[in-house]
Amino acid sequence: MMKIAVASEGQMVTGHFGHCENFNIFTAENKQIVTEESIRNPGHKPGFLPNFLNDRGVNVIISGGMGAGAIEIFAEKGIETITGVTGDAKAAAEAYLNGTLKSSGSVCHDHEHQGNCGD
Ligand SMILES: [Zn+2]
Repeated sequence: MMKIAVASEGQMVTGHFGHCENFNIFTAENKQIVTEESIRNPGHKPGFLPNFLNDRGVNVIISGGMGAGAIEIFAEKGIETITGVTGDAKAAAEAYLNGTLKSSGSVCHDHEHQGNCGD
């Protein structure tokens, strides 16, 4: 079983992990999505989101952009991060399962917004 969290605005992949509206969490078995749920982003506190998602047993995080600190924390926890993704959240999760989703390694420091991005 595998859990994929897509940082989203509604059904679309967000550009900013730390500032996303919700996480669409897809649980997959044998590369097929079996359940999906949407949980609100509980808010932006330093170091909070990586632990929040780790506690939910997430294996993979998909986002448009993400702060370098958050990527590092996920790596330490053995959670894979895929960045530079746009479009439909479920389509992105399915592409990941099919092995066709590529990470651009996009880090968020270039983006113009206040504060960090999920670090
Ligand atoms: Zn950002």
